[in-house]
Amino acid sequence: MSEEQKYLYGPVPSRRLGRSLGVDIMPFKVCTLDCIYCQLGRTTEKTVERKDYVSVEAVLGELRERLAEGLEADFITISGSGEPTLNARLGQLIEGIKKITNVPVAVLTNGTLLIDKSVRADCARADVVIPSLDAGDEQTFRKVNRPHKDISIEKLIAGLCAFRNEFAGQMWLEVFFVEGLNTDAEQIGKIKDAIELIRPDKVQLNTAVRPTAEAGVERVDAEKLQYIAEELGEKCEVVADFSRQRFTGDIERKAEDVLSMLKRRPCSLNDICSGLGIGRNEALKYISHFQQQGVIDSEEKDGIIFFKAN
Ligand code: SF4
Repeated sequence: MSEEQKYLYGPVPSRRLGRSLGVDIMPFKVCTLDCIYCQLGRTTEKTVERKDYVSVEAVLGELRERLAEGLEADFITISGSGEPTLNARLGQLIEGIKKITNVPVAVLTNGTLLIDKSVRADCARADVVIPSLDAGDEQTFRKVNRPHKDISIEKLIAGLCAFRNEFAGQMWLEVFFVEGLNTDAEQIGKIKDAIELIRPDKVQLNTAVRPTAEAGVERVDAEKLQYIAEELGEKCEVVADFSRQRFTGDIERKAEDVLSMLKRRPCSLNDICSGLGIGRNEALKYISHFQQQGVIDSEEKDGIIFFKAN
């Protein structure tokens, strides 16, 4: 594999998508939201303006290289160090991927721009679209997702409904629960009403099993999340990975590099990424793995989260 790769990471094991090759098409950290549970840290540019953030040709060039090396992946997953639908070339990129491989394409999005017809048209080129909805009313939406001023929960739900009506592929709605913020009976009831309007193929529940942007974001325990899943109905499943992940091969070697770095000194996410030349999403997979094993710990200092080996 070339050392020059900038846009691709993995394939990393994903509970929902199997072996997932990540495609990062947004600079850190440009997003329409600033979710308190974000694993990437605080949003540095909150915007709703779509732009040509990265060159489609450069991304496709990297992908061609990986395919030539014999890529084994179950999904090519478009996400980013921010919100991928802000990339105005998203549709072109998916079209380009489809021309060079049969590996299905998934898009992870916060769904806030689906109110825009051109964003819906871009996302509709994918096989699976995984948008989010973490609140049932404006007040909770603001608390959990801290949106750009032009975004409201009403527009988010309207965009999700419009997309559902136009998209024949799989739509898996992710709901992220934060203990004490969106977990009471009233919120669950309102989220359930929204799900009935949206009609996704699946509803997937998640919680803070990885380090988050804000300290004090509490995860919902596995039993309670299961209870919420039952309340929300039969399409609902828990995808939060409370179990230990297993890494093999190249991934295992990189995970070991992360651990040996943390054994030497406490490091921030940025330190790990620049020290090992890996992307944030990939580094977070390793951190999450070692946190679940209880091998590393984190502490906040001046607003930055540092990780260290125990
Ligand atoms: S979790 Fe996703 S939508 Fe929320 S701030 Fe982070 S990147 Fe943006």
